[in-house]
Amino acid sequence: MDFELPDEHRMIQETVREFCQGEIEPIAQEIEDDHRFPEEIFEQLADLDMMGVPISEEYGGLGGDTLMYSLVAEEIGRVSGSVGLSYVAHISLASKPIELFGTPEQKERWLRPLAEGEYMGGWALTEPSSGSDASDMDTVAEKEGDEWVINGTKQFITNASEAGSVLVKAVTDPGAGYDGISTFIVDPREDDGFEVTTIWDKMGLNASPTCEIQLEDVRLSEDRLLGEEGDGWDQTKKTLDGGRISIAALSTGLAQGAYDHAKAYSQEREQFGQPISQFDAVRDKVVDMHRKTERARLLTHQAAHRYDQGEPVTRESALAKLDASEAAREVAEDAVQVLGGYGYTTDFAPQRFYRDAKLMEIGEGTSEIQHLVIGRELGL
Ligand SMILES: Cc1cc2nc3c(=O)[nH]c(=O)nc-3n(C[C@H](O)[C@H](O)[C@H](O)COP(=O)(O)OP(=O)(O)OC[C@H]3O[C@@H](n4cnc5c(N)ncnc54)[C@H](O)[C@@H]3O)c2cc1C
Repeated sequence: MDFELPDEHRMIQETVREFCQGEIEPIAQEIEDDHRFPEEIFEQLADLDMMGVPISEEYGGLGGDTLMYSLVAEEIGRVSGSVGLSYVAHISLASKPIELFGTPEQKERWLRPLAEGEYMGGWALTEPSSGSDASDMDTVAEKEGDEWVINGTKQFITNASEAGSVLVKAVTDPGAGYDGISTFIVDPREDDGFEVTTIWDKMGLNASPTCEIQLEDVRLSEDRLLGEEGDGWDQTKKTLDGGRISIAALSTGLAQGAYDHAKAYSQEREQFGQPISQFDAVRDKVVDMHRKTERARLLTHQAAHRYDQGEPVTRESALAKLDASEAAREVAEDAVQVLGGYGYTTDFAPQRFYRDAKLMEIGEGTSEIQHLVIGRELGL
């Protein structure tokens, strides 16, 4: 494949980089410390047309491809994991499925405000007792007349407290296994019975709300079913194929951000009368940080490119996510080390990248699950 970025992609990358450095980086540690969702940043991203990058223009998006979207996610990740996580959950998990599986009416009603950045979106699969084994869910949707009635609890749902729509997975046919799961569009602000019961304190990413939600007799009209009844699991797999590319892009951004800090510091900091980058041990560390970041980016762009060609990407997206998330954690850990004692303080960014990067090995399927997916794809 051709790794030279098209001009349009470069332009978007530069615009977003400038925005991230000017508006997000200066407040990145403060919003983490305050556990504050930065609403104003998402309003500005909406003004830049960034809230629906890979969504068609017909429904308020930018009409870009997955490669362009990956570049944007990477740039945001380079300065803030929190903003990045809320951003990719909004697009890959909450918006893209409506574009892929919704009716024209659903797209007009639910996709347009997401793509235009009127409000955030969420996607609710995980439950207190089902994570990796996500299809083993307890949330149920029962038909009563021409309404669906949903009951259950969803766990660790990104953006739920800020969302204008949440896509909720529920069992509609308990005997049908994978074919008995469906997806519903829930309006957290208008639908009675929807409640955010917890916003978790986490080891990182605290400016991105991670919520437990309770659904108690939430009554929905039939037009809130996304796609066909029983399609929920198939939709989940397709959603995660795309979502994992965005986590890989975000991870690449975290790795790049951590590397940038470490490289600059290693050239400024002097010990024993010379910049620490002159010591082989430090130089080799920084070189390896660069190597891992570049590798993560190549795998991410390869997966994005294949997705844009309409090719199956289950293996490629899992591979990119597995590699880039590991790279982000390792590079961020090494960045803390390169900064020495200062790296351990919150005055410097590497500790934040380190804490944020860890989630990338857990969300949208843990690294162990990515191995399982890749092994299956390899016929093992
Ligand atoms: C910050 C954050 C944001 C999130 N956002 C969302 C969201 O927006 N929407 C949503 O639906 N979910 C979300 N999640 C949930 C996330 O996807 C799950 O936490 C993740 O899939 C793991 O599930 P679990 O936590 O139940 O762990 P478990 O599945 O209980 O896993 C525990 C450990 O067992 C291992 N394990 C489990 N099964 C296997 C196996 N078969 N082989 C080998 N090892 C195995 C796992 O790899 C892991 O190490 C989020 C989580 C966090 C922390």
